[in-house]
Amino acid sequence: MSRRRRIYEGKAKVLYEGPEPGLLVQYFKDDATAFNNEKKGVIDGKGVLNNRISEYLFTRLSEIGVPTHFIRRLNMREQLIREVEIIPVEVVVRNVAAGSISKRLDIPEGTNLPRSIVEYYFKNDELNDPMISEEHITAFGWANPSEIDDMLSISLRINDFLSGLFFGVGIRLIDFKLEYGRLWQEEEMRIVLADEISPDSCRLWDIESDKKLDKDRFRRYLGNIAEAYREVAQRLGIIQETNIEELSNTKADLTVRGKS
Ligand code: UDP
Repeated sequence: MSRRRRIYEGKAKVLYEGPEPGLLVQYFKDDATAFNNEKKGVIDGKGVLNNRISEYLFTRLSEIGVPTHFIRRLNMREQLIREVEIIPVEVVVRNVAAGSISKRLDIPEGTNLPRSIVEYYFKNDELNDPMISEEHITAFGWANPSEIDDMLSISLRINDFLSGLFFGVGIRLIDFKLEYGRLWQEEEMRIVLADEISPDSCRLWDIESDKKLDKDRFRRYLGNIAEAYREVAQRLGIIQETNIEELSNTKADLTVRGKS
């Protein structure tokens, strides 16, 4: 791995130069951060699970015609992706109130929203990803109106599809965050889904018990984080209960090693 050129290192993933121009390798780390880096930890096996869950979801989405950067999974922690120019806008889709919308608008967590709500955030750690509107996106040139239209319609389609997919395995898709990039192919540019979709970027609650099966277990010190991510992978049929250990490079020790 050290032979490869590292292009970018984020909080939960590293991007390496790929085998040919236009391709990158996306490596999933076990690191977890929350509250803009204030809370840090390592969750053994998280990267392996997110690699598999994101592979599964991106594959299902491309089957219904959603364009994505994903090509194929390479190994336990890596996937081959197309290099795109990331649009610095995080698109959040919400079905049920939780997290920041509950705080901001004083809506109890778990309240069904009257309809799905899409929000935009400026992808900027120094500014703590502030919420923005379409006006900001176009005025500052982060994306043009047609790109915003594309991101909005693809995001709503993803929401419908993933809500059904998770419902089928007894999970409520509360909210999630998407990122998009520009991909140039033969003089043409199109908007494609990038980054990852995993329990790090979604809120997933068990339909019966409301048990949280996502990163809120880390944010809120609820414990058993990797077990919850594993449960998501198992319910989706990605892994069988019998070969859980094989998934992880590390032993099936699921404790969080807190750094702070
Ligand atoms: N989210 C994310 N990355 C971010 C911010 C949010 O993946 O930088 C996801 C988060 O996991 C949740 C959804 O987007 O599924 C909405 O997050 P919210 O605005 O409620 O923020 P939070 O509670 O994480 O501060």
